[in-house]
Amino acid sequence: MNKRLLTGFLLSVIYLVSSAAAELRVATLHPLMTDLAQQIGGSEITVVPLMGKYDDPHFFTPSPKDLAKARGATLYLASGKNLESYLDSLRSTLGNSAKVVEVGRLVPSQKISARDEHYVCCPRHAQGAIDPHWWHSVSNMQKAVRIVTKEFSKADPANAGIYKKRAAAYSERLSQLDRWVKRETSRVSKKDRTLCTAHAAFGYFCKTYGYRALPVKGVSVNNSINAGYQAEAIKSVREHKVKAIFPEQRSNPKALQVIAKETGIKVGGSLVADGADNYEEMMKRNVNHIVAALLAQ
Ligand SMILES: [Zn+2]
Ligand SMILES: [Zn+2]
Repeated sequence: MNKRLLTGFLLSVIYLVSSAAAELRVATLHPLMTDLAQQIGGSEITVVPLMGKYDDPHFFTPSPKDLAKARGATLYLASGKNLESYLDSLRSTLGNSAKVVEVGRLVPSQKISARDEHYVCCPRHAQGAIDPHWWHSVSNMQKAVRIVTKEFSKADPANAGIYKKRAAAYSERLSQLDRWVKRETSRVSKKDRTLCTAHAAFGYFCKTYGYRALPVKGVSVNNSINAGYQAEAIKSVREHKVKAIFPEQRSNPKALQVIAKETGIKVGGSLVADGADNYEEMMKRNVNHIVAALLAQ
């Protein structure tokens, strides 16, 4: 190799090494944060999702193996609002090597109002606790876009312009989605706007879009049906003149079937409460299922 070629070769090696080293590596602790990171970071970042497909965010904790997979990540995106109980210990494990960002931190908190411990997702989210399911209101996701864009731009200023541009486009799409959700949910007559679900996950949705939340069965409860609160659930379904009951992907559908059969109301399409790979699809699916069941005669 002649001298000039060698210099060129070395320069390109140095370029490759330095550009690889500069790439922003982001670990995510929730599937919706993975989607958000990819929407804004695109091909400029590497996203390492740590929660598996079958992990429940109310019980998930990253293992040492997960953390090894995330090695080199300088940002960790958590959804926040006390959903991840392990953030303090994660922060002390990571030390100064990475920043843990609670993406939901700009969202005003709502409290869980389920009347009974049986209706909540896990022991940490009992009545009176901060409700962690902030993503069911689209404007909250737009607040999250701002947080993530700011953090990416700080960590990788060279690409700040690209992140900002993508964030603006995504936020515009979310505005359209929000208008669509408002339009669709308002088609249901006011007296029928009771969202009867398994666990207390739709508080933000209900407040934003003008529905009443009525959780009747916790996901933490196993398949054995407790006659006492089954009777109570049936009573409140009748009292609230509930039109449909909505199972969740992770809930106990057998118990819901019993309540539906007993009260003569229909079972709607299942709702995604705790997160999915694609935020917009999750919202569309949930709203379509809610409106279809509550509009039908
Ligand atoms: Zn929980
Ligand atoms: Zn949940």
